[in-house]
Amino acid sequence: MLTGACLCGDVGFEVDGDLIEIAHCHCSACRKFHGSAYATFGAVDPKFFRWTRGEEKIAHHQSSEHGFRHFCPRCGSAVPANPEGGPIALATMGSVAEDPNIRPAVHIFAGSKAPWHTIVDDLPRHEEYPPEWGAPSGIDRPVREAETPGATPGSCLCGEVRYEYDGPPERMVNCHCSRCRRQTSGAYGTFVFVAEDAFRWLTGSDSIVDYKMPEADIKGSAFCRHCGSLVPRLRDPGGMQIPAGGLDADPGVKPAVNIFTGSKAPWSALDESIPCFAGYPE
Ligand SMILES: [Zn+2]
Ligand SMILES: [Zn+2]
Ligand SMILES: [Zn+2]
Repeated sequence: MLTGACLCGDVGFEVDGDLIEIAHCHCSACRKFHGSAYATFGAVDPKFFRWTRGEEKIAHHQSSEHGFRHFCPRCGSAVPANPEGGPIALATMGSVAEDPNIRPAVHIFAGSKAPWHTIVDDLPRHEEYPPEWGAPSGIDRPVREAETPGATPGSCLCGEVRYEYDGPPERMVNCHCSRCRRQTSGAYGTFVFVAEDAFRWLTGSDSIVDYKMPEADIKGSAFCRHCGSLVPRLRDPGGMQIPAGGLDADPGVKPAVNIFTGSKAPWSALDESIPCFAGYPE
């Protein structure tokens, strides 16, 4: 039995059977929606899938002709898409607590990979969908530029929320803790940290929902209420935490460290070319 939940716990699900396949998707829509380097999907026969709570609360955004993105309206976590009549339910793997006992098989849309992300495994990579999936090709999405020359821009999937920051970030971190995995519904969270005074909202700051975990000092999530994409959040007074998947340009740096690898998803490949810490760095 596999169980999963969004960050706030309002939406929960379980899977009582084997997954068919796990795939990583690097398309820009997945990166923006999850805020992470890529999204990881597990395909499962719908007969094995059940919502355990909160199904009626789920919000969605239509991101393309056939694409719907489902999210928790309280915390913004991506939740499984269970299209009615569809052959499979797509479970968002970062929200799954247990080891699914199968491993990812493929990278799709590797042609859209984030410039700051290095694929560290040897799985087959497809520029778009693998031909055997018989799926339509990807859609071109608008390129959103910075307003200030030299600034690094970012935005949500629907384009309502746009922002930028000046100068190089203070740091860029991969966090594998279970909270970041539930928040992004991805393998891990990648965040860019910048000083608050180097950061500007350009549009849509009134479309942001901020969720703070009641049991945590700081941890929470900020997301666009229209599309559910993770967006930057004031982490400490003076410091903005930006989900790197939302960036529209190369930040010019790469993740410098993996933290909380002790909580890493068992199916996630770790970039061991950078320092790894089981918890916070000493
Ligand atoms: Zn939630
Ligand atoms: Zn995708
Ligand atoms: Zn949006």
